[in-house]
Amino acid sequence: MNSQIHILTIEDEKSMSSYIATFLNGENYKVSSAMTGSEGLSLAAVLRPDVILLDLGLPDMDGIEVLRRLRSWSRIPIIIVSARHEESEKVMALDQGADDYITKPFGTNELAARIRTCLRHNKSASSKIYRALDLEIQFEKRSIRLRGEQIHLTQIEYQLLTLLAENAGRVLTYNFLMNAIWGPYIDDNNQILRVNMANIRRKIELNPAQPQYVFTEIGIGYRMLENECEA
Ligand code: CA
Repeated sequence: MNSQIHILTIEDEKSMSSYIATFLNGENYKVSSAMTGSEGLSLAAVLRPDVILLDLGLPDMDGIEVLRRLRSWSRIPIIIVSARHEESEKVMALDQGADDYITKPFGTNELAARIRTCLRHNKSASSKIYRALDLEIQFEKRSIRLRGEQIHLTQIEYQLLTLLAENAGRVLTYNFLMNAIWGPYIDDNNQILRVNMANIRRKIELNPAQPQYVFTEIGIGYRMLENECEA
C-alpha cells in the first residue's frame, strides 16, 4: 500500500536530499526531489504528492514563501525540515499552515513517524476516542479517564486537552492554542496557557516534570502522545 505514497522533498543540500530519498525509497515510498523553491512549486503542482518535506533555507526563495504559495492552492501535508538556528521561522511556518517540523540532524525513525502522523491526519476524520498508556478520552461523552478513574477538568482545561488529543502526534504552537481557546485579543505572553497546562499536568501526569502525555516543544508549543486508536 505504501508503494503509491508519493513524497516530494524540496531541499537544496544534495547530501541531505539523497539521505532522505534513500531512506524513503527503502520504506517503499516514491520520492521526487526538487533542489530549489521554484522547482519545488512546479513539481508540487504537476505531481500532486501526498506529503511535502520542505527545507526552509533554499537558495532562490524563502522557504516560508514557498509554504505560502503552496497553501494558496493546496492542503497537501507539509513537514518543515529546518536547521537549529531557524527556530522563529519554524514557529512562523507552523502558524502559516505547515503540518509539522523536524530539526536537522534527525533520525530516520523520527522522519518516518512524522510522515505517518501527517498521512493519518490527512485521511481520517478525527477519532471519537483518544487512548494512550493509561489515559482515555471519549470526546462525545466529554469523559476523561486515567487508569479507569474519572478526571475532572475545568472547561478551559478540557478544551485545551481535547484540542491537543484531536491533533495527537502533531505540534500545536503557543499562538495557535492561545487563538483557539482565548481568541485573538488576549496578550499575556502565553502565561494563561502555561498555567492551564500546569494544572492539566498535575491532574493527568504521574510526574508533571517528566510528562508522558503532553510534551513541551521549547519555544514552539505542545505535542500530545500519539493516539493508539489511530495507529
Ligand atoms: Ca538548505
